[in-house]
Amino acid sequence: ERARLARLRHTPAVTLDGERVELQANIELPADAAAAVDAGATGVGLFRSEFLFMNRNGELPSEDEQFEAYRAAVEAMKGMPVTIRTVDIGADKPLDRMSASELRHEHVLNPAMGLRAIRWSLAEPSMFRQQLRAIYRASAYGKLRLLIPMVAHLSEIRQVSETLKRVQQQLTDAGQAFTPVELGVMIEIPAAAVMLPLLLPHVDFISIGTNDLIQYTLAIDRADEAVAHLYDPWHPAVLQLIASSIGQARAAGKSVSVCGEMAGDPAFTDLLLAMGLRNFSMHPSQIPSVKQRVLRADASRLAEALPQLLESPDPQRTAALLLTSKRGNT
Ligand code: PEP
Ligand code: MG
Repeated sequence: ERARLARLRHTPAVTLDGERVELQANIELPADAAAAVDAGATGVGLFRSEFLFMNRNGELPSEDEQFEAYRAAVEAMKGMPVTIRTVDIGADKPLDRMSASELRHEHVLNPAMGLRAIRWSLAEPSMFRQQLRAIYRASAYGKLRLLIPMVAHLSEIRQVSETLKRVQQQLTDAGQAFTPVELGVMIEIPAAAVMLPLLLPHVDFISIGTNDLIQYTLAIDRADEAVAHLYDPWHPAVLQLIASSIGQARAAGKSVSVCGEMAGDPAFTDLLLAMGLRNFSMHPSQIPSVKQRVLRADASRLAEALPQLLESPDPQRTAALLLTSKRGNT
């Protein structure tokens, strides 16, 4: 079975009815890019850059150090796109204590709802500009995309865009080369999913973070064992938000991916294909088994089941009945 999965590496992920599907990798450090290429990833859909900032005894990575890391990742991907998410510090990914206190944010009441991700970046503008300069400088070496985590407000996108203009000017003045970088936002706070029509005109792509989207939609701490049984990707409200986000992005001609755990779990491949998803990003080790599901799927038949699925009080059961019968025949 392992050998069979390994042979799948160079097979393009195309459904039975000819729909091309991108299977990309989630990485934490540039060294992970090798595993992504090895697994047959067609790009990096999520580079969790916060891992460059963690476990460093209080010191933050310099602009040059970040630039080297982003360049290493984009070069390792050999022309395939690399989506770098700006730091998603906070909640389950804290800075170590020294650097946190240096940055004034050591005491946090509720980390999942506190000064994390883009909120933290906007509160630390010189740190944020350093990261953006490093990303732009690396764009001269391959195809980079910029992804902003935990967006909930239009003003956050506006502030990011203004910062990007300033950073580009700084690089131009310094004679540093860079190429255009697409701007995307994570859809992982329900507010962002609900107001997607207002967000879409300001971005080039979106990426749905189902891990946090489930957490915030259901008010279930994703790290709390006591409520883990209520953390339910099949919850009708969660499916509504994911399906409508995919549908609206596609209708607006913007690319959309899912980069949360659901994307790498073959139990959800048919469901996400039915919703119209054509870009999945996951841990490299999960690519072969998701690819097997894609190769056996008939995307247009799966899509026929979607309305009934979204109306079901028990979508998991309905999916087991409906999607199985609408899968391909092989
Ligand atoms: C997510 O929330 O689904 C996601 C991909 O981001 P992270 O798991 O890093 O919060
Ligand atoms: Mg997240």
